[in-house]
Amino acid sequence: MDCVFCKIVNNQISAKKVYEDEKVLAFYDLEPAAPEHILIIPKEHISSANQLTKENCNLVGHIFFVASKLASELGIDDGYRIVNNCGEDAGQSVKHLHFHLLGGRKFTWPPG
Ligand code: AMP
Repeated sequence: MDCVFCKIVNNQISAKKVYEDEKVLAFYDLEPAAPEHILIIPKEHISSANQLTKENCNLVGHIFFVASKLASELGIDDGYRIVNNCGEDAGQSVKHLHFHLLGGRKFTWPPG
């Protein structure tokens, strides 16, 4: 499958990995939008949040747990944002479910 994040999971493309277990992988975003910008993905290919099912949705809770632990390790747990862009209108550019963990600066609300 021609999926850039699957290639990172399979070590066909390099990435600066920060966390890995049997279910998920976390690595630094190539184009950071904050001083700390990490992507957390399921190793299994799921195209977007629209493809979540009763069977695979527990991955999302695990990803949020990993995000909170990484935020603490990175020292950004005073304030961080977890973002999932789902679909074209939200600007999803990589069709493999991923959550952005952003921190190290102030964020505004609502987002643009
Ligand atoms: P999204 O727009 O929500 O689909 O986010 C995709 C993100 O993946 C963007 O922030 C890109 O900078 C990032 N990205 C794309 N390719 C890579 C890569 N090979 N390594 C790290 N980050 C990447």
